[in-house]
Amino acid sequence: MPVSGLPPYDPQNIFARILRGELPCKRVHEDEFALAFHDIAPQAPLHVLVIPKGAYVSAADFHATAPEAEIAGFWRAVAKVAKDLKLEEPGYRLLANVGHDAGQEVPHFHVHLFAGKPLGRMLG
Ligand code: C5P
Repeated sequence: MPVSGLPPYDPQNIFARILRGELPCKRVHEDEFALAFHDIAPQAPLHVLVIPKGAYVSAADFHATAPEAEIAGFWRAVAKVAKDLKLEEPGYRLLANVGHDAGQEVPHFHVHLFAGKPLGRMLG
């Protein structure tokens, strides 16, 4: 269950359907805890999404309710994607939108990974 104030998890959201293999994605990495794939509408030369395999509405939900092993496994996957894509130099940005005011479109927790050019102070 999500933390209070958040909507219940919708199993028909797009990322849930990608995780079930009902919709395609351009996969970058997959392991027990996470799936990473190229964003369908990139906002930087490299724009990858990393999502946990569990059903979490947002970052708030994930960090409040996921087992520690899943939280650690997810962030290890994020770091592995950045390392495997050789992004540690010159660098990259991680971003997670939470809720309406942040413009979260897909109600399954995900981290955006942006890279490939100097990103300035803010995106969007
Ligand atoms: O953080 P937010 O929920 O706004 O981000 C959702 C992201 O999912 C968008 O960047 C959008 O382009 C991406 N997306 C995708 N594949 C889909 C649907 C959305 O990569 N099939």
